[in-house]
Amino acid sequence: LGLLLLGCIQLTYAQENYKRVSITNVNEFLIHDLQNIGIDLTCGVIQKDQKLTLELFDYELDQLDEQNINYNVLIEDMQEFYSKRAIEDLPKASLELQQEKVRSAQRSYSVNEILNNVGQYDGCDEIDWATPANWKINDATNYPAETNHFGGCLTYQMVLDELDLMQSLYPNLISVKTDASPTNQTTIEGRTVYYVRISDNPSIDEAGEPETLYQSLIHSREAATVMNQLFFMWYLLENYATDDAIKNLINNQALYFIPVYNPDGFVYNETVAPNGGGGQRKNRNTSAPGSCGTYLEGIDLNRNSQYYWNNGGSSGNSCNQTYRGTTYFSEPETQIMRDFFLLHDFELALNHHSYKNAMLHAYAGTTITNPRPDEYSKYNHDMTHYNRYAHGPSTSISALNSGNMNDWMLGGPSGPGSNGTGSGKETLAWTPENGLASEGTGGTYGGFWPQPSNYLPIAKRAMRMNFLAAYFSGKYAKLHDLNKTDITSLSGNLNFAVENLGQTSSDFTVTVTPVSSNIISLGAPSTQSGMAVLQQNNVNISYVLDPGISALDKIEFKVVLTNDYASDNVLYEANIVKLYNPNVIFVDDPDSSGLTNWTQTGTWYTTLDAYSGTTAITTTNTFPYANSDSKQLQMNGSVNLTGLPAVLVQFYGKWDLERSFDYVQIEGSTNGTTWTPLCGKLTKPGSPDANNTYSGKSGTDNSFQPDGESLYDGDTQDKWNMEEILIDASTNSFLYNQSTVYFRFNFRTDSTNRQDSYYNADFEGFSFDDFRIIDLTENTLSIDTFSSEDLKVYPNPFYNTIEIN
Ligand SMILES: [Zn+2]
Repeated sequence: LGLLLLGCIQLTYAQENYKRVSITNVNEFLIHDLQNIGIDLTCGVIQKDQKLTLELFDYELDQLDEQNINYNVLIEDMQEFYSKRAIEDLPKASLELQQEKVRSAQRSYSVNEILNNVGQYDGCDEIDWATPANWKINDATNYPAETNHFGGCLTYQMVLDELDLMQSLYPNLISVKTDASPTNQTTIEGRTVYYVRISDNPSIDEAGEPETLYQSLIHSREAATVMNQLFFMWYLLENYATDDAIKNLINNQALYFIPVYNPDGFVYNETVAPNGGGGQRKNRNTSAPGSCGTYLEGIDLNRNSQYYWNNGGSSGNSCNQTYRGTTYFSEPETQIMRDFFLLHDFELALNHHSYKNAMLHAYAGTTITNPRPDEYSKYNHDMTHYNRYAHGPSTSISALNSGNMNDWMLGGPSGPGSNGTGSGKETLAWTPENGLASEGTGGTYGGFWPQPSNYLPIAKRAMRMNFLAAYFSGKYAKLHDLNKTDITSLSGNLNFAVENLGQTSSDFTVTVTPVSSNIISLGAPSTQSGMAVLQQNNVNISYVLDPGISALDKIEFKVVLTNDYASDNVLYEANIVKLYNPNVIFVDDPDSSGLTNWTQTGTWYTTLDAYSGTTAITTTNTFPYANSDSKQLQMNGSVNLTGLPAVLVQFYGKWDLERSFDYVQIEGSTNGTTWTPLCGKLTKPGSPDANNTYSGKSGTDNSFQPDGESLYDGDTQDKWNMEEILIDASTNSFLYNQSTVYFRFNFRTDSTNRQDSYYNADFEGFSFDDFRIIDLTENTLSIDTFSSEDLKVYPNPFYNTIEIN
């Protein structure tokens, strides 16, 4: 019995236990205490409503006990919890993935555009990404010979096999896996850290191609990170041949992937926890002073970079999860990353982690001023448009964590001591924290080892961030159509805007050509040169219409936006339809009518800062706007939409509203009392409470924004854009064919404003101009009303076919 007991004790020691715990009444002093102890507050740590939920080892809980910090144990043994849950869920996950692939094979995401790109997409809901046929989870279907399935996550060897499979199936698009170290340095346990390049001519580093970096498994228990990288990689490879936007991206740029940054830690988790749930976060450098045993060994590879190393939020105790090492870049893994990074010129880098549903970025190890707040603000706004991840510098979402990679990649003014200036590359870097603890039915899908059926939704949520990181690295601009749908003159200018969002300088050309025969001529293509990043230029192209045009006739033209890559340079191509003198149901021109077409609840204002003419309507005359405000602006009277197949609400808008908290909605009603938000091209889904983990916000504020409802928030940085809200049988359909329809704007603010590092965010409120409601009924020729005298054939003579619409 004595021997048996001894065996048990040793086993307990050998498998350091970790628990999910909660700590209540959290304030900044407690955060500081936890940082000092060496507790990581970034990955898998949810702070909400003065409550922290996190996963801690017994060793760390002993440290909390010593400091008299109270905690509640939510889950006693996380490894057991994760592995049991995964085994139970795997059959369901396998079935769901197979069904999803069948469904994906039957559709593509492409919308009306001829050549779309992910950044131009403006649907009410995120693209329903088709699941790549080759993407797989570790289950009995894909790996029948395995007895353990590592919680559904591919093992290290399986990931390497995937890279080989990708290369054998798409040898012209992805390189063979290659040693990331220019000096063939290996990890502590002798493993090579591999990278692959996705590009045309993938075996060579083509000069001048903009570069983007994607890394995962820096922390080796953050399983969702590698799974979503593989999903994105397969998506690019499998869709290259049929999606011209992907083809043009891959042909002109280079995307670099390091799927397993910390292979030793990852393999250790496989060995100790073959059914998933392993707790190894750090590398496997066991030579640090003081032997801690099992999961506590190693150096935190995200606290070991040079810039502001050892400036807080890291630990000098080798047993702690944030152990920073004896000096910066002390570890082979961080040296390999540094050397690889310095050989390239990455414009953007995504260093994937889990979990928090957040996009963290520099600075995290210092409170010095972020040098590029406008770019971070805009890129975050677009990357999280649908997944609504919290975003900002780590210091405002979690806590200080110095020595992290993002800070070193971005760099900046010289830090204290010998901490240097960072990489010198000025790379815009992020830590996407993928997934939550509490998601899915019953709130039990997430964590470091998500329920296997949750890998798919987490991977889909990362797609927009991954795509846009590539676009923003290159020669990228968005095209904005600013043309009112009702064209009333036979000649004039078509108005567009080009918004430069790419880090690689480029000319951008807008070319417009006629599609409908009633367009007699269009002006020459317009090229914009020398635009700064984030600059938006208005582009006017003249048009002349056939004088024989009738009211309600459709005017259709094709617009193409190109950059200056030598070839494959189309970014966007779409046919756009306007109407000649359609029935305009309502038009508001505040230049002449001020606020008289509207009924106010609370005070609204006119402003000289107008889109057109002299006057626009705004929520706010002096910024910042008031906290805890609620006011509405309702259009006088109602409109009758009976019998109208489609109606468009159109206006120009700009806004500066605290992201994830304050908001404006445009709402519709059929009785004037019950209001429902409308979805438009510029609306986004309201931020879910679970993602609002910003520190310093109250529970009430975190829950303030209505989850998932269409709304406007964030900062458009003074750029006007045109909003279009379609009402037909399938979009905003609750107003379709209704006889009494009311519209209003609804402005709501919570109790505080957070600026974070976005110095451009002034909380200026919401402005709009030239609001109108247009009946989209258009002329159609039908045989019984058709008179041959009216028929003009153009061009005349014509070739082969004539089309009568
Ligand atoms: Zn992490």
